[in-house]
Amino acid sequence: MREEGIPTNEEAAAAISRAVQKLSRIDHFLDKEDLKNVMSNVLKSIAEKEWSMPAFGDLDEMSQLWVSATFQSIPISDQSATRQFVNTKQSPKIGVDGSPLQPPPQLLREFSPSSSFSLSDVNSFDVGIVDRWDFLPTTMTHDQLVMACYCMFNDIGVISEFGLDSNNLIQFITSVKANYRPNPYHNWMHAIDVFQVIYMLLKHTTLREYLQPVDTLILMLGSLCHDLDHPGLNNVYQVNSQSALALLYNDASVLENHHASLAFQLLSKSENNVIGHFPQQLQQEIRKFMISEVLATDMIKHFDLVTMFTSHLSSGKPTFSKESKEDRQLLLEYFLHSADISNLIRPLQISRIWSDLLFEEYLQQGDEEKKNGLPVSPYMDRNSTDQIRMSINFVDFIGLPLFGAISKAFPEIKFFMDRLKENRAFWAERKSLQSPSIAPSVVFTLF
Ligand SMILES: [Zn+2]
Repeated sequence: MREEGIPTNEEAAAAISRAVQKLSRIDHFLDKEDLKNVMSNVLKSIAEKEWSMPAFGDLDEMSQLWVSATFQSIPISDQSATRQFVNTKQSPKIGVDGSPLQPPPQLLREFSPSSSFSLSDVNSFDVGIVDRWDFLPTTMTHDQLVMACYCMFNDIGVISEFGLDSNNLIQFITSVKANYRPNPYHNWMHAIDVFQVIYMLLKHTTLREYLQPVDTLILMLGSLCHDLDHPGLNNVYQVNSQSALALLYNDASVLENHHASLAFQLLSKSENNVIGHFPQQLQQEIRKFMISEVLATDMIKHFDLVTMFTSHLSSGKPTFSKESKEDRQLLLEYFLHSADISNLIRPLQISRIWSDLLFEEYLQQGDEEKKNGLPVSPYMDRNSTDQIRMSINFVDFIGLPLFGAISKAFPEIKFFMDRLKENRAFWAERKSLQSPSIAPSVVFTLF
């Protein structure tokens, strides 16, 4: 029976169809043929009753702006709809007098080579501390997390399987830790959080049936490094401020390129090089796949990934083949992207902690944007932000399609969708208590 106020799949599909038609008339949003194709596939998925998503046209203006900026990285200043949200001050002409635009990209940080534990401690580590879906790294010290990280590598079996040098691995993990900044959200804790989800997925799903053995190592290394030296200011900020990193990477997946580059700068140091003993060809393959999976954490790749992944799910069993490099690459990218936003499927209390930390970082970016006369990104102005609405949008546009597909392919993690539903219900309830002057958000149904 249909619940009151919840649309049928057909109604949801019709709403999306109207949204696509509306989007087609907005030059700045749908100006690429491939995006149109992606949206067509989204519609197809909805018609197949896999999942539903709110109609773009039903969203409030700030949410529409957020969708545009998130999935297309459109410079905010190009969007007419931003007017009411942006600072009216003109952006300064940074660097026109010939002075340096921004500090140069960071070189690798020095770190204390002394590790905080010895290998004998590993045997006494209770892996049950990390072998759980309600893991919260903030309950441990940074150094304890280095040991926990090592123990997860050990528990998955990659140290023995690939003959990794334990001291190298400890040095590598310690170097990675030293190269995360103390941001509210994108810090060492987030790296371990994502790494631990990858550990859980490798341990508790059938994912490895579709991968080559080395892919396990690639996922673990990539997840640990995927936000290295994140400055706490996102790609939109990098592009709008013409930062040194944006200039270096030509505005394309600026931060993700930086993270991947730093990962291999770290690995190039002999004391860290855990893959240095591999044949050259295998090292090249690891490099190629690690770069692609880290680049795939850029949110603009989200719909492409969902569409490609979903195309493998038309029959009963997923059609991924471990003999296909394309399939392996897609799985690595999809799983790392999923782990990266897995705060959405953590138990509510933990999910809220991460949400608050992420929001604090967003508000700090908004402050920085105001200070530098840049347009303030949607939801990042502390005077007009709306954590509840953004959290709901995040579930609807990102969590639902992503986790809907992954839990269909891997039924052992079907509970992800229950968690997503519970967490969304929390935000929806909070929203219902808000002032009625706030426009109603989206229609939504979960399966
Ligand atoms: Zn991340």
